[in-house]
Amino acid sequence: MSKGKLLVISGPSGVGKGTIVNLLLQRRPNASLSVSCTTRAPREGEKEGVSYFFLSKEKFKRMIDCGGFLEYSLHFENFYGTPAEFVEKKLEEGDVILEIDVDGALNVKSAKPDAVLVMIAPPDRQELYRRLKGRGTEEEEVISRRLARADYELGKSELYDYVIVNDDLETAVGQVEHILEKE
Ligand code: ADP
Ligand code: 5GP
Repeated sequence: MSKGKLLVISGPSGVGKGTIVNLLLQRRPNASLSVSCTTRAPREGEKEGVSYFFLSKEKFKRMIDCGGFLEYSLHFENFYGTPAEFVEKKLEEGDVILEIDVDGALNVKSAKPDAVLVMIAPPDRQELYRRLKGRGTEEEEVISRRLARADYELGKSELYDYVIVNDDLETAVGQVEHILEKE
């Protein structure tokens, strides 16, 4: 019997997921963030076992074959997946947060119906654009693609257990904490 809850956080790029999760982890020492596996190459500054577990396509496929993933999907020709054993081990120590896209999140819910799905939504589209632009990490063309994807992701909100609007950051973090306490 695991000790912790599995909390899955999704939402469009730039909505503030990373910011919320970082604050949550500082406040809840028994919670941890899951590390996904990917076949893409590490970006500058990314660390093995912290940002991702970086695997070859062969190793990733072997893990698929032996049921090593809670869920996995393909994005832009690279595989991404949630390692099942890693998550189960962490759940024995406390709450585990997965920050993954909507398709992955819905697959997690099918595999583990106890998982709690939280969608982080922007106050409005203009504010999402302002945040993506303000973060300064993407070109205008990438921002347009991410905004188009945002409509798809937010369209799945009704399949989530909770939807939190990240308007005031402090309020949003408090709402996620409340969900963890209540569930
Ligand atoms: P994500 O992880 O969802 O892609 P980030 O956490 O990187 O998003 O946040 C995107 C940008 O929005 C960052 O510059 C962050 O500081 C800012 N941000 C996050 N939450 C808020 C908020 N409630 N109000 C204003 N800006 C925010
Ligand atoms: P990036 O290459 O920018 O780190 O991530 C690309 C995409 O992969 C993002 O949409 C991210 O949410 C998704 N992703 C990261 N980890 C996982 C995972 O474990 N499972 C799934 N399904 N998607 C993931």
